[in-house]
Amino acid sequence: MPYDVQVVVVGGGAAGVAAARRLQQASIQCLVVEARRRLGGRAWTWVDPSGYGLDLGCGWLHSADRNPWVQVAEEQGATIDKTPPPWMNRPFEASFPRAEHSEFRKAVAEFYGRLEDAARSETDAAASTVLDPGCRWNALINAMSTYISGAELDRISVQDLDRYDSTDVNWRVVEGYGTLISACGATLPVMLDCPVGAIDHSGKRLRVDTGNGTIAADQVIVTVPSAILAAERIRFTPSLPEKIEAARGLPLGVDDKLFIALDGAEEFETSVRVFGHTDRVATAGYHLRPFGWPIIECYFGGRCAAALEKGGEAAFFDFAAAELSGVFGSAFVRRLKPIGVHCWGSDAFALGSYSYALPGCADGRQVLAEPVDDRLFFAGEACSRHDFSTAHGGYLTGVAAADRVIAMRNTSR
Ligand SMILES: Cc1cc2nc3c(=O)[nH]c(=O)nc-3n(C[C@H](O)[C@H](O)[C@H](O)COP(=O)(O)OP(=O)(O)OC[C@H]3O[C@@H](n4cnc5c(N)ncnc54)[C@H](O)[C@@H]3O)c2cc1C
Repeated sequence: MPYDVQVVVVGGGAAGVAAARRLQQASIQCLVVEARRRLGGRAWTWVDPSGYGLDLGCGWLHSADRNPWVQVAEEQGATIDKTPPPWMNRPFEASFPRAEHSEFRKAVAEFYGRLEDAARSETDAAASTVLDPGCRWNALINAMSTYISGAELDRISVQDLDRYDSTDVNWRVVEGYGTLISACGATLPVMLDCPVGAIDHSGKRLRVDTGNGTIAADQVIVTVPSAILAAERIRFTPSLPEKIEAARGLPLGVDDKLFIALDGAEEFETSVRVFGHTDRVATAGYHLRPFGWPIIECYFGGRCAAALEKGGEAAFFDFAAAELSGVFGSAFVRRLKPIGVHCWGSDAFALGSYSYALPGCADGRQVLAEPVDDRLFFAGEACSRHDFSTAHGGYLTGVAAADRVIAMRNTSR
């Protein structure tokens, strides 16, 4: 393994894999240094004993009609499922009558309308300030925020949320989004199980300190989650207080998915959604029969997910079983068996699920993405102005950083 390379890419998630692939295509010698024993980061497909590829991290190819991972999936011959997502499908009548659902959709549309107006103001605010006081759907709009951003609206910047860009086209890869991203990195030079502890950019060449020794490089692309930077798990010399401050304004919200095996699943249509409750924030969203599988994919977000992480899989399952028996009757619980969950909030190399901006901190994304002396580059979903919190946001920032590295190397020749 070389300990002297042209470019080190720190982190092998969506951004790191995309950056390294671009560098490799430009014949630049690079090395991905990854703390985990696998590539993919927050993209992670776990194949359960029945053979289903369960995405414990990202699952949806959001903005699929412009999502670069779609092309990668096509190159790999992966199967793309274009069934409309459950949030665009008809709601499940038993838990959410159609008339109420139209009312809810209207309340959501009005919420986003007010958000857009508020975002024009020069002063940023918490997104909770644009809720309509007294609207009966506020709790559910807030619960949705915990699935979308990993946090309740009182923590979220109006300006940042308004900048998120979606084409509303959402597809999935049957083999798993995690499988797709890790397979994309399969031919890259990678050091796994190798956390980076420090980066010294004071000398002529950069020095990256890892558990396996020090690697010298001309340039480094750092793609670790903003929460890892904020917690100063990597020490920079000279220090980078502006980066740390920007990262602290872009924490990672918590979103966890519990998978449950469902007996007699054929009773339900493929890909429908049920909410545990429609009148409280601490409720989960249940996606019944994704891909037609006999499985329920349960989404937990925000403070609810963070609290349940303390009790592990049993706590998530008990919560889900209680909510589902409230919707389908107490006998339903006997048809359920937990398959697995991953607690992203307590994951040492993520410290959360995806980034949101605290009120007043939306511009931190650009600060985080700015290179230092054209030698130290930053990428990752938190660096994206419009596609943050997504795997394609990670990809695009990774490629952008790699392109800057390539441009630098070409001009300094
Ligand atoms: C439950 C859940 C559901 C999601 N759903 C979706 C979805 O449906 N669609 C979507 O687009 N996105 C979704 N996301 C978000 C998406 O997974 C992330 O935005 C994306 O994967 C982030 O990629 P990244 O490369 O920026 O960061 P990461 O994937 O976190 O990659 C960073 C890498 O750095 C490594 N690292 C950390 N510290 C160190 C260190 N000290 N040294 C070396 N390496 C280090 C990490 O192990 C990791 O591999 C979801 C995430 C979660 C958790």
